[in-house]
Amino acid sequence: MATINDNYLKLKAGYLFPEIARRVNAFAQANADAKIIKLGIGDVTEPLPQACRTAMIQATEEMGVSETFKGYGPEQGYAWLREKIAHHDFQARGCEVDADEIFISDGSKCDTGNILEIFGNNNTIAVTDPVYPVYVDTNVMAGNTGDAKKNGEYEGLVYLPITAENNFTAEIPGEKVDLIYLCFPNNPTGATASKEDLQAWVDYAQANNSIIFFDAAYEAYITDSSIPHSIYEIEGARDCAIEFRSFSKNAGFTGTRCALTVVPKTLTAKAEDGSDVELWKLWNRRQSTKFNGVSYIVQRGAEAVYSQEGKEQIQQLVSFYLENAKIIREKLTAAGLQVHGGVNAPYVWVKTPNELSSWDFFDKLLNTCNVVGTPGSGFGAAGEGYFRISAFNSRKNVEEAMKRITEKFKV
Ligand SMILES: *Cc1c(COP(=O)(O)O)cnc(C)c1O
Repeated sequence: MATINDNYLKLKAGYLFPEIARRVNAFAQANADAKIIKLGIGDVTEPLPQACRTAMIQATEEMGVSETFKGYGPEQGYAWLREKIAHHDFQARGCEVDADEIFISDGSKCDTGNILEIFGNNNTIAVTDPVYPVYVDTNVMAGNTGDAKKNGEYEGLVYLPITAENNFTAEIPGEKVDLIYLCFPNNPTGATASKEDLQAWVDYAQANNSIIFFDAAYEAYITDSSIPHSIYEIEGARDCAIEFRSFSKNAGFTGTRCALTVVPKTLTAKAEDGSDVELWKLWNRRQSTKFNGVSYIVQRGAEAVYSQEGKEQIQQLVSFYLENAKIIREKLTAAGLQVHGGVNAPYVWVKTPNELSSWDFFDKLLNTCNVVGTPGSGFGAAGEGYFRISAFNSRKNVEEAMKRITEKFKV
């Protein structure tokens, strides 16, 4: 008799986005002429940069000629792309990352989930609260947690609150944890980690032989020059950190798919017999066995991100979303709301007024302004009383949404 991976039964039904859709649909049906503006979803809206499109069109033409046709590429990604990344994203910032330590993939979502395959099942795992739900659900699937509790937290995971009380930095746990997920600039709060914050994490990880999973999906949004873009800007990080990066949010590749994971060759963890094993070897084995690479065409598109033209176009794209974030912050503040984030990140984290719950604020904003955001409680128990507004939208929609809030919303 075939049996299933019972861990999947522990997963809470994907509650957040279906529930948002349900409430929006019900409202739209009852109010047929309401023009609803969605500032809820973490997906980009603006077109792909010209430099990336030109490179992909050219690569497509190459695929149509037998002399330049490409079949399977290296499972780790083409060396010309990995070398550009090593140079521009890491070495230019003083980080010691070699092209060999970079693995190209079709997304950070899959990499942050798949990475668990090379780790044991007896690790203590810490996540921030609120959190990018992928980190939690992939641990549930892998059998690294117990059941869900009433408040939505899972038995067996260590939750590190990110709240106003700790100035939106995740506090270092008092206990010993083995794997730690950090995402800065943060989704959903838009918070950042300073060099000192990250140094404290690296020191903790070194003292406890822990591994940090550092998700830098939003590094392109950092405007404050004192904030590190990579964990490898921190001394000692090569001995305790894996970094995830993506072309999704800087170059608009959410639908094109290209990302990368850095596993330093100096990084080790313990085998059952007590020996130290290089994680690079395990991840290389994993990728070589289960993955056949990102398409040649898409990797050429990603390479164009590092051309002079590409760099300028990406800067324009990021600046466009950051200007949206600025408009959102200013208008919400003027409307009497307390806002966080949105300076070095495309997300604005709003404190709900008058102790409203995240969902009550959602309903109020939908009913009075026909604007949709994301309830903070959907990202974790500590997100209750907060609300995420995304800057990923057209200028016209952002301005119209903020105009409605300014005119109609009463705190
Ligand atoms: C958008 C996002 C990513 C990128 O995921 P891809 O699979 O590369 O598109 C990674 N981490 C976080 C927290 C994100 O919000």
